[in-house]
Amino acid sequence: MTTVAPPAYEEVTATFEPVIGLETHVELGTRTKMFCGCPTGFGAAPNTQVCPVCLGLPGSLPVANKAAIEATIRIGLALNCSIAEWCRFARKNYFYPDMPKNYQISQYDEPLCSDGWLDVEIDGELVRIGIERVHLEEDTGKTLHVGGATGRIHGASESLVDYNRAGIPLVEIVTKPIPGTGAKAPIVARAYVTELRDVIRSLNVSDVRMEQGSLRCDVNTSLNRPGEEWGTRTETKNVNSLRSVERAVRSEMVRQAAVLSTGGRITQETRHFHEDTGETTSGRSKETATDYRYFPEPDLAPLAPDTAWVSELKAALPELPRVHRRRLQSEWGLSDLDMQSVVNAGAVELIEATIAAGTTAEAARKWWLGELSRKANETGVELATVGATPKQVAQLQQLVDDGKLTDKLARQVLEGVVAGEGDPAQIMQARGIEVVSDSGALTAAVDEAIAANPEIADKIRGGNVAAAGVIIGAVMKATKGQADAKTVRELVISRLS
Ligand SMILES: [Zn+2]
Repeated sequence: MTTVAPPAYEEVTATFEPVIGLETHVELGTRTKMFCGCPTGFGAAPNTQVCPVCLGLPGSLPVANKAAIEATIRIGLALNCSIAEWCRFARKNYFYPDMPKNYQISQYDEPLCSDGWLDVEIDGELVRIGIERVHLEEDTGKTLHVGGATGRIHGASESLVDYNRAGIPLVEIVTKPIPGTGAKAPIVARAYVTELRDVIRSLNVSDVRMEQGSLRCDVNTSLNRPGEEWGTRTETKNVNSLRSVERAVRSEMVRQAAVLSTGGRITQETRHFHEDTGETTSGRSKETATDYRYFPEPDLAPLAPDTAWVSELKAALPELPRVHRRRLQSEWGLSDLDMQSVVNAGAVELIEATIAAGTTAEAARKWWLGELSRKANETGVELATVGATPKQVAQLQQLVDDGKLTDKLARQVLEGVVAGEGDPAQIMQARGIEVVSDSGALTAAVDEAIAANPEIADKIRGGNVAAAGVIIGAVMKATKGQADAKTVRELVISRLS
């Protein structure tokens, strides 16, 4: 078999039109699980947050969690969905070791919320993403494959199951198919997940942390030639960061185009995204709904949310992120373009929190969009997990404002913050970083530099102040950049006038 180089992305989008779709799972931040009273905290010792109900022991009966139902309705309302006046849970039957009942309680043809939309902004333009449904289900446990090099089942010596996560309320949000985005499909997918995350966070119903798995995303992708029917779609599972959402769509578009261009067919299947290579590999062929033998859950009463209660929830929805951002933009005095770069960098909340910690909007924006964005790009992480907190950035700026750090030194300190060396003040002490403001030491350095450059000193004495740069540079070098350039300049000129 010969391998052919994959087509360039521009070639793919010139020949094919993508249709994407996103299924997002959000773990709700309720205190207890969906159908029992077990706690839901993250990171507890394995199998310490379990009971007969979430372990699926015979004779145990589920009771629905009202807080989870309320949270799901609020998500549905924020996404402009209709809320069902009557609906039921359903059993989704399949066998998997991390699902002790051998069925998952989910919702099938009667979702709690349906037919809504979410507007996302792409380069200043609104794209309306249709929402097919928002339904409530329970999470599964977690299987851990040990003994192998990769953490995958292949090569592992044993598999362990942790049921702490089993039964945590999970909301699934499914978009309608999204055609017509062309080459922007990967960006639209990312923007949608970002906006959805921000909406859910604003509702305060989940911490929506992709890296901890409380927000998980499956990406459907298909390609067709213009004018033809939509192609067969694949589903890329568990894409674990916003950046990966974009990369997964893009790489799947390129892979499918390569198959289609050589006369091949796309198989309907699930695929796995690999963070390291940015590519997807084949998982299993996709089950169809009939394989799951859905039927109404006989152990739970139907849900019939009171319309007055739903209206109350709707009236009490918070300001949604897009509205909130517009308000911040005017408060911060930013142009559309500047605000867009803040949004694209994922820096809105970080800047907001840095300002709340006592910094100006301008300074907060400078650090997050400058040095810290660069670091995040270099290491391939989200800005929020780059290693610096808004509080530390505010502390850093305070040290600059107090004259204890120059901009250049502040960047060195920030490097230490990102490396996890502590707060700015601790790093200054540990690394011995400080502005040389002791005028005795500075004057000595200035005098030395003047003595070493007699001809330039004469020029300055003769009124050619522009020549001072050479001597200032020599002083900065001698003090290893720890002097304030403005102070040095003043000293040089006063010594030579
Ligand atoms: Zn339980």
